[in-house]
Amino acid sequence: MSASRVAAHERQYFDDAHETLEPGALRALQLERLQRVVARAYERSAAYRDLCRAAGVVPNHICTLDDVRRLPFLEKAALRDAYPAGLRTCGLDEIIEVHSTSGTTGKPTPIWATRGDMDAWAERNARTMWMVGLRPGDLLQNCFGYGLPTSIGLQYGAQHAGIGVVPAGIGRHELLIDLIVDLGVTAVCTTPSYGLFLADKALERGIDLPRDSRLRVGVFGAEPWPESGRERLAAALGVDAFNEYGMGEFLGPGMAAECPVKRGMHVWSDHLLVECVDPETLEPVGDGERGELVWTSLTSESMAMIRYRSRDISSLTWEPCPCGRTHPRIGRITGRSDDALSIGGLIVFPSQIEEVLVRFDEFANNFCMVVELVDNLDRLTVQAEVRDLAGLTAEAREALARRIAAGVKTGVGVTPRVELSDPFSLPRMTSGQGKTACHRVDDRRPC
Ligand SMILES: [Zn+2]
Repeated sequence: MSASRVAAHERQYFDDAHETLEPGALRALQLERLQRVVARAYERSAAYRDLCRAAGVVPNHICTLDDVRRLPFLEKAALRDAYPAGLRTCGLDEIIEVHSTSGTTGKPTPIWATRGDMDAWAERNARTMWMVGLRPGDLLQNCFGYGLPTSIGLQYGAQHAGIGVVPAGIGRHELLIDLIVDLGVTAVCTTPSYGLFLADKALERGIDLPRDSRLRVGVFGAEPWPESGRERLAAALGVDAFNEYGMGEFLGPGMAAECPVKRGMHVWSDHLLVECVDPETLEPVGDGERGELVWTSLTSESMAMIRYRSRDISSLTWEPCPCGRTHPRIGRITGRSDDALSIGGLIVFPSQIEEVLVRFDEFANNFCMVVELVDNLDRLTVQAEVRDLAGLTAEAREALARRIAAGVKTGVGVTPRVELSDPFSLPRMTSGQGKTACHRVDDRRPC
């Protein structure tokens, strides 16, 4: 190995010029990029121009970073209305890849990407991989799903940093476990629940992953996990566990991740501008205070993703981090500003379950969702009130439950257990509940 190769291998940051950019310079770069991306979006996307006009703002109004607040919020509904390409800011001849959101609240939104966008995505994920301690010679097994939506950015990022990847995906858990052990996989990325599931399945075969594999790093995302989960993941898989954050609307993983200090996730802020706002007033909250994250892509060449309301509740701080990276940090996602639930990594709204149920004549208008952690996997039970339940034979009940489960699977993507009950047997809405305290949801998972 040459001297320069050794030096490259041992450096602390993947891109120290950007990762440790002095905060004033980082903000100046953000402003310059914000002005450019807003001007581009205004010029090239009629849908975005309409949003700006309705808000009475033109690109020239953006003179400081605080002026971002003059720009309209981008709501999920606006993304849907712009289907399929209303927010695209480049020609189709520049697009080299298309991904999509999960589409749990309607048709999935295609997320377009140019070569520049793909390079930036790989760069952001490469920084993350380096930050969690991976180096050439490591082997990363990606146990997130491939397809639409996708976590393939993790693979691109690792490869950009010279780290080998096993694109294993999910399912066929016996094979996944064999690959980890037999190939000498040193790192895994997946959802926390799937990570624990794999560890359990390995133990059932007498394989103790901390003892029998070379695993040492785990990158976990796509569903919120509590701090208490870190030790469980560490013990079950034999890894140093890191939290990672991404959204399908911004291609996916590679937006923010933990450094070894593990006090929040650094947001790659030369590419992304994040605000934290009060979800009611939409005014910014103070440093470190709880609020909803609002995201702007500062470098997207292909889409106007400007001030997108994530609905994710977290916090944001510019406090210096002992790791030396100057990029601000977001805290754990502690909830959603609407009533969405994350089940097995999929966002599920009670309204979606209702949409399925109301198609059944037998349904008596009230239902409840129970979410539990069983064998380290999320389990959804839909309890539905059924008219004249007593009049149904056992076979008829079973058939109805099966049809409902199939409907939910088709509509939502999650296969639930279904329990039928008599009318007026389930809890109903009472006054005085907060907007987010949903009477239809009984979330029994530890947090
Ligand atoms: Zn740090």
